Formats: sequence, structure tokens, C-alpha cells
Amino acid sequence: MQIIDLRSDTVTKPTPAMLQAMFAAPVGDDVYGEDPTINALEEKTAAMFGMEAGLFCPSGTMTNQIAIKVHTQPLTEVICDVTAHIYQYEGGGISFNSGASVALVHGERGKMRPQQVEAQIRPLDNVHFPETKLVALENTCNKGGGTYYTLEEIAAISEVCRRHNLALHLDGARVFNALAASGDKAADYGRYFDSISVCLSKGLGAPVGSVLLGSKGFIKRARRVRKVLGGGMRQAGYLAAACIYALDNHVERLQEDHRKAKAMKEVLLQTDYAESVLPVETNIVIFKLTDKYTDAAFVAALEKEGIRASSFGPQMIRFVTHLDVTEEMLQHTLRTLKAMNQVSLATA
Ligand SMILES: *Cc1c(COP(=O)(O)O)cnc(C)c1O
Repeated sequence: MQIIDLRSDTVTKPTPAMLQAMFAAPVGDDVYGEDPTINALEEKTAAMFGMEAGLFCPSGTMTNQIAIKVHTQPLTEVICDVTAHIYQYEGGGISFNSGASVALVHGERGKMRPQQVEAQIRPLDNVHFPETKLVALENTCNKGGGTYYTLEEIAAISEVCRRHNLALHLDGARVFNALAASGDKAADYGRYFDSISVCLSKGLGAPVGSVLLGSKGFIKRARRVRKVLGGGMRQAGYLAAACIYALDNHVERLQEDHRKAKAMKEVLLQTDYAESVLPVETNIVIFKLTDKYTDAAFVAALEKEGIRASSFGPQMIRFVTHLDVTEEMLQHTLRTLKAMNQVSLATA
């Protein structure tokens, strides 16, 4: 049976053309700065986002954690939404790596408003408090269901950061999905952020890799932190070649993933087992089950039809669309979701 894997957009495998690009890559020792393909990827990504420099890393967790380390010191604080990946899904790394504390904002589906950010900033010159240093946004917001910030919303939060002398970091694991949905230009991001983490291994379909972007000085310090974390790779240009291929060939098609996610939402809204479906803005569909199924039973029932989904909390299910979900797979998924409704009606 053909498996349709909707657990995450990290499950994609390199296409034949991507593999060709990897085989053909010129490489060198990147710890010596001598891998031409990595250098090209770092320069290309930085230029796309209007930033000075880039740093290739094995994962988005590493790019985020390096950025936080460089922007903070122990006894300082990071402001982020309560759903943020840096807080929820990076193993408590902010305390481990940076010794910083975290002030949480309860935003709307992962998105913070400027006033909420400002309300978390600690008063200066009062020894009781940690010193606020950094604000971190996520675009798109994973746990928020793929919601996105527009450039205008980013600009308003950036203005708060400037006024309070705080750095602004972007966890852009799915920033290209945000750009595809908002119509904003990547090049405009550089003006508002002090650092940006971009993942190539999510919707863009590269097997491995994230790039951290910032000023030349920031990236110089980030390179030291990457080394100490064990992220200094050698002939990793083979991986960077896949990332360059992804940037050149897999950005335009993200709209396709968004269309497929919306089609799934439309079908779910007509079923009696989906109690509610979060609005679908990009490639993530999150819905809540009625008591007809538990999340574990629903995932198991889908698995029997060759469809893999993620349990995303009690009664919560997540689907993510990506490069390896074909039109035929979409149609099979839609038919299955409809049929599950009829099965449960027939037995009701
Ligand atoms: C996937 C993801 C990351 C990085 O994850 P890695 O698996 O470490 O590459 C960071 N932030 C968000 C929002 C993500 O979804």
C-alpha cells in the first residue's frame, strides 16, 4: 500500500534532480571556511532576506539555540509566545544553553500583538527582575496551526523592540510558507530582524539543513557557538547543494501545499467526527475530534488506510501537506476522510 505521510513536512525525501545536484556539488572543509557550496548557500540565503551573512547548521533547533545564545547572557530574559517551538519543543534548551529565563505571551494561535510583547518587558534598573534582551517570533506558527504574521505586524513588533533596545529573532522554520500566503517579500525581512533561522528541511524538501542569518558580527559569534555545540561540519556541501536546489525549485510550489491543506479542511468541516477545525492559512491542518474517536483511535484508523497523521494533544490531530503529497494522494485522503464519516454514521 502507498503511504501518505501527513505527520510533518519534515518527511520529504530528495527528488532525483535534488540528488543529482548533491552528487555534483563541489565541496571542501567548511570548518576551514573552504566548502564553496556551503559558502554559496549562506550568501544566497542572506541576500534573499536582506541580511549580511549566513551560517549553515544541521537543524532549526541549532540555529534558534545559537541565536538565543548570542543575543542573551545568563540572568536575562527572552519574550516569546507560549506555543513557541523554542520554548515547547527544544528540550528546555534556552535554560541549558543560555541560562536565560523566558517570559511567555498568550497570543492568538501563536501570534503575539505588539502591546502583549511590550507588557512583558521588565523595568530597567530593578535588581528583582531578569533583564529583557530578546523577543522571538515564529513565522509561520506551528502550534498555532500555520498562522502567519504579515510584514506590517512584524514591523509593529520590531518598533517595540527598537524602542526598548531589544533584539528581534525570527524562527522561520516555515518562513517561505508565510511569504507564500502573505505575498510579502523576503528581502524586506532583513530590516526588522536581528537574526533569522530558515529551515530547508521542512516544506522546501531538503533532507537536512537550516541557515541562521544576521549581521557579519553576529554570524562571527554564532560560528563559535556552532563549533562548541558540535555543529561544525566538514564536506557538508553535499547537504548545502540540496538546500540551494530547494531554494531554486521548491519555493514557488508552496501554494500547492496550501491548496491541499484547505481542501482537507473543507472535507473535515462536513464530517461529524471533527468538532472544530482551526482556520487553515498555510500547510497545517489542526482539528479537534468529537468523542466518536480518541486521537489515538483516529490515527490508527487512518493508518489502516495508508495515511499517517500526528496526534497533537488530547482529541487533537495535525495534518501537514508537503512536496511528497501528490494530487492522487490528496484525492485518496479526501475520499478516506469522507468515508470515515459514513462508517461512523452507519454504526450510530
Ligand atoms: C521544525 C521546527 C524547528 C526546527 O526543528 P529541527 O527539527 O530542529 O530542524 C523550529 N521551529 C519550528 C516552528 C519548527 O516547526
